[in-house]
Amino acid sequence: MDRKTIFLCLAHMSEKGLEQKYIKEAFDTNWVVPLGPNVNAFEHDLEQFIGMDKRAVALSAGTAAVHLALIGCDVGPGDEVCVQSFTFCASSHPIKYLGATPVFIDSEKETWNMDPELLEQAILDRKAKTGKFPKAIVPVALYGMPYDCRRIMDISNKYGIPVIEDAAEGFGSRFKGQVLGTFGKYGVLSFNGNKMITTSGGGALICADEEQKNKIMWYATQAREAYPYYQHEEIGYNYRMSNICAGIGRGQMTIVNDHIAHHKHVQARYADLLKDIPGIHLHEAPNADYDANYWLCTITIDPEVRIKGQENAYKETVKSAVGGAAGVIHQVDSPTTDCQPNDNVEALRMYMLERKIEARPVWKPMHKQPVYANCPAYVNGVSEAIFKIGMCLPAGPMVTDEDIDYIVEQIKNAIQ
Ligand SMILES: *Cc1c(COP(=O)(O)O)cnc(C)c1O
Repeated sequence: MDRKTIFLCLAHMSEKGLEQKYIKEAFDTNWVVPLGPNVNAFEHDLEQFIGMDKRAVALSAGTAAVHLALIGCDVGPGDEVCVQSFTFCASSHPIKYLGATPVFIDSEKETWNMDPELLEQAILDRKAKTGKFPKAIVPVALYGMPYDCRRIMDISNKYGIPVIEDAAEGFGSRFKGQVLGTFGKYGVLSFNGNKMITTSGGGALICADEEQKNKIMWYATQAREAYPYYQHEEIGYNYRMSNICAGIGRGQMTIVNDHIAHHKHVQARYADLLKDIPGIHLHEAPNADYDANYWLCTITIDPEVRIKGQENAYKETVKSAVGGAAGVIHQVDSPTTDCQPNDNVEALRMYMLERKIEARPVWKPMHKQPVYANCPAYVNGVSEAIFKIGMCLPAGPMVTDEDIDYIVEQIKNAIQ
């Protein structure tokens, strides 16, 4: 049978084609610019969804949202920021853009997210070593799983350090019923092509009030002073969302709840089908307080599990970016590094790929990345251990029940 590739998380448009309707409106009214009616309406839709009387600023990327949130917390050269190590690079790279230093915090076993105990240790140790507290705390909702919002906010309040929630993967996830991104001073969302909803590329920053929103918008639009000519007293950025992209976002907001429900359904079906396979464990929310959107479903594979073709794992260098069609990646000389997923994980990835299933290793912790080798890190071994045994499985609105059955069948077949 001629099977289509099952991707990790593919974009899916509304049945009514509202995305195209809003884009057409933008063209018809000549609002083909990085502001306009779709941008305002999309922000309104986001604010309705988030509730809590919060404000949202639509931006060109989630990475831009992280960058501006750090600026909103006055992060600058020489400052330190506590950031979850187990994450995608967009959580920490903007700290470097600002000449500040990330202080990496390892994860707790239950959620895979920032360990509150290590966070507090790090805060106290940085204060002792540098005389200053870190300027911000950046927990990440990894694969949509909420972090321990209660304990992280307690620590934030105790030391007066603002929280920037990286909820790029956790749009619509909740902790004790409250939407992620609304606990901290700022909340980051991403609408890249493979996230919970897409604007083709884009992001948003959740702000506490109109004043904060204005400040972020000012930085996002080149920081201009009110003169008849362009007068600049601070450095700004060109980070506003385009009115075309916001049109897609408006359409997507009509189906965001369906998407979240579908991701949860996919997770539940994996849970049902994977439960009897020895050595394979689905990562699940620790208790009912953690209402994950299950952006991606993740498993861990015990080291004892033998996968067909395992002897060939890491024999050849990868010729294209795994899990990222876009962009340019450097070719490498060696297929291995000193910190990589176990052979059986790599073998399973290859086995699945041959059967048209995109599976991917979990994020490699930032404290193990060569580019961050010199940054302070407070570690307990959890994220590194999960990196060696973890794998992401396809989720998202395009994944059908039949796809899930097929994926699980192939996992079973792959085990020797
Ligand atoms: C996707 C993502 C972002 C933002 O990414 P953009 O591609 O710039 O929208 C930030 N943090 C995490 C953890 C992400 O997964």
